Order: sequence, then C-alpha cells, then structure tokens
Amino acid sequence: MTQEVRVRFAPSPTGPFHIGGARSALFNYLMAKHTNGKFVVRIEDTDRKRSTSESEENIKEALKWLGITWDEGIDVGGPDGPYRQTDRLPIYQKYTEKLLAEGKAYYCFCTPEELEAEKQEQMNRGETPVYSGKCRNLPKETVEQYLKEGRPYVIRIVTPKDETLEFDDLVRGHVAFDSNKVGDFVIVKSDGIPVYNYCVVIDDALMRITHVVRAEEHLSNTPRQLVLYHALGFPVPTFAHVSLILGADKKKMSKRHGATSVQQYRDMGYLPDALVNFLALLGWTPDSDQEIFSREELNQQFSLDRVAKNPAVFDIEKLNWINFHYMKQLDADQLLALCLPHLQQAGYASQEPDAAELSWLKDVVWAMREHVQYGAQIADAVQVFFTEDYAPENEETAAVLKEETAPAVLTMFRDELAALDEVTADTVQPLFKKIQKGLKVKGKFVYMPIRVAITGVMHGPDLNVIVALMGRDKVLSRLEQSGLLNQ
Ligand code: GLU
Repeated sequence: MTQEVRVRFAPSPTGPFHIGGARSALFNYLMAKHTNGKFVVRIEDTDRKRSTSESEENIKEALKWLGITWDEGIDVGGPDGPYRQTDRLPIYQKYTEKLLAEGKAYYCFCTPEELEAEKQEQMNRGETPVYSGKCRNLPKETVEQYLKEGRPYVIRIVTPKDETLEFDDLVRGHVAFDSNKVGDFVIVKSDGIPVYNYCVVIDDALMRITHVVRAEEHLSNTPRQLVLYHALGFPVPTFAHVSLILGADKKKMSKRHGATSVQQYRDMGYLPDALVNFLALLGWTPDSDQEIFSREELNQQFSLDRVAKNPAVFDIEKLNWINFHYMKQLDADQLLALCLPHLQQAGYASQEPDAAELSWLKDVVWAMREHVQYGAQIADAVQVFFTEDYAPENEETAAVLKEETAPAVLTMFRDELAALDEVTADTVQPLFKKIQKGLKVKGKFVYMPIRVAITGVMHGPDLNVIVALMGRDKVLSRLEQSGLLNQ
C-alpha cells in the first residue's frame, strides 16, 4: 500500500493574507483532494513581534471563504495537535534538550557585537558570512559557569562540514547546497523562542507530513531544514517549491500592482469560486486549454507534475474574465447580495432597504449584469440611474443629439411614453418601432438620441429596460431637460 499523502499549509499570521499564501494553501488542499490524502493547517507564530491574533483570524476566515477546508489543524483539532506553534513550545524544548545532550546542538554566548565583527571580516574577505563555530567546543565547565552567571545565549545546531545538502524538488528538480555556506545556525533565540526553521521541521515530522509544498522564497531555508531532519533523525519529506507570483510588469507582485490580499478581492466583490479557479491556474497548467474549472474538476485534475518552474504572472484581466463567468451563474438574488454593499457604499442604496427598494435594486443589478465583471463595478454601471450628471459624455455622444431628426424623435417618444397605461420593459419596447414607422427613420436614429438624452452615454443595457427601471417621471423630466422637445 502506498503511503497516505499528508500536506500542510503553515501560515505566519503577520499581516494581511496574501494572494500567494492562498495559492500555496490551495495547491496543498488540491493535492490532498486529488490523492485522497489529508490537509493540515498549522499556525506558525514564533515571530512574536510580528504575529497577531487578528491576522490569524483573517487567514482562517479567508480560507473558509475560499472553501479551502482542512482535515486536521487549528480550530478543527487532530491527532498531532496543538496546531499553533506558541502552544507547542514544550515539544520543541524536549527536542532541544535531546540535541544538546547528544552534542548535536550547543550553547553560544557570542555577543551581537562579536558576531557583527566576525561577519564584517568575512565579508571583507569576500566570503559568505557564516558563524565561525567559536562556541562549538566550549568546555563543559565553561558552559556551566556562563549559564550560572546568567550570560545571554542562543542555541545553535551543529552543521556538518563539507557536505552537500541535496534533494529532489518536485517543481525545481535536483537542488544542492554546500553545507559550509550554511554554518551552525541559531535554533533557539536568546529569548528562549525557537526559530521558524527549527519548529517547522519538528512539526512537519510529528504531523507526518509527506510533501512540503510552499513558496519558492523558502527554497533557501531548505538546506537548514535538511540539517535539522538529519540531526533529529526524522525522515525527510518530499519538497515542492512553487514559483513566485509576478505582476504584469514581471516584478514580484506587491502593493504597487493593486490588491494583493484575499480580503481585498473579497471586498471588491470577487467570488470565491472564481478566485479559486484563477489561483489554481497561477503556476499549474492543465493538459488542455480549458480555463474554467469547477472545484470537482480541480480536485480530479490537479497534480504537482504540471506545476511550472517559471514564475506565474498575475493577470487581472484574466481574473476579471473568470469572475464574470462565475457571476453569470448567479441568480438575481445572489447577484444583488454581491452588489448591495457596493451600491450602499456609493450611496445608491439605503443601509436598510425596504422590500420595494430591494426589488427595484434587484432589477437594476440584473439589467446591468453583462456590464459588471466584479461586484464593485456595479457602482459605475448603475450610475445613470442615480446621477443628475447625464449630459453627453463626449463630443461624439453630443453629436447624436444634433441629428436633424432628434427633436422629432424625442418629442414623439415623450408623447407615447406619457400615454402608456403602465411603463414596463414590455410596454416600452413597441414604442421604438412605432416611432421609426411614424417618422420614417432608421432604428439607430430612434434609439441613440433617446439613450443619450436620458443617460448621457451610448452604451448600456437595452433601452426599454433602462426606461422601465428609470421610471416614467424621471425619463420625461430628462427628455424635457434636453431642451430639444417640440412643444
Ligand atoms: N510560516 C511560513 C510562511 O508563512 C511557511 C513556511 C513553510 O511553508 O514551510 O511563510
């Protein structure tokens, strides 16, 4: 029987939940789904200065919103808990004692000044700065003496000399590092808190992780982690370092490129299914040119051997296109739920709309659905219904109202509209044909001046729908305001 795949996502709760983190979480999740394995979520909060419980909450909330659920881990529990590193300090402590007792780790009393001087010297000689190993062989008595004196210390691991630290990365292929460039690095800091590289190894081993799938920026941590796997006698998992996400300018994605956190995309009115679909394609290439994937299809098709080594480019147009696709699957109520906060923010909807307002907003949003790629765009799309600034937006548009036939068209439309018993999209539609016939003008010369006179723009949903949603009074008043009507 082959071994069960166990993967994990291990975020550090030190800020907004970056899109790259979500992609790592998703790849692990999909790998677990694809192989019927287990997905673990662990919180890596040993950086006490930068970790916050607010960020931890944000990450968990964003994962849930994306529908990335986990089998074991924070909040849900499991056999290898606790799942927050600061709750695991006694576990790390136990291993530190073991490593010290076995001579695989040692106390280092070098002061920051000494270390800095050593580093400068090495750099002046053009060498990679690595710790000299000065405290590695301090006599036992000296160590005891210093400890008794209460001298500050860190704990370092013994890194073997002249070894090649190598592994086969599922994405990057064979990777090798020279152990002499790694040196005896710190595993427990002077405040007694173990460092990321150390905790991650103990946790991955105890949580029986088989595949470590994470961002490329951790590639350089891997040699240190290998030293620790060997020292602790743990089996080494398989690594897969997924490439960076770049902005359209091929530079590492950052705030300069726009929104970078999952929360920002949620708040802009993107749908979780769309974001998941998009993130899956950031690095993973399916074996066809299919671009829209249901969750079920992703679970079935995702595999690490189709994850590319070259960086993935975050193409916002593609995300918008995918989101538009998923938005079209929404019914009118769902579409309104997505758009309402944006309408409220723009001041186009009350904070507590009553049934009549909601029903009207629902119709408005539905009419605009072809013009909105994500929720926040609704505010621009529906502007014509709310603004009093509906003068022709540019010269080309203004020219429409200067057509010779425009006054007659607008006047006849006013009369016909005023005479309707009830104004609905269905009752308005026949009026346009009637005007064409009555005035012997082509369709374009009917639709365009009316559209421009009441909205100021030449595009938008069907004119009869706009007229019905705007309502008779507003349309009549705007026709009047055009100053073109024959009395
Ligand atoms: N805690 C690390 C981070 O958030 C993840 C490390 C790992 O996946 O090994 O970047």
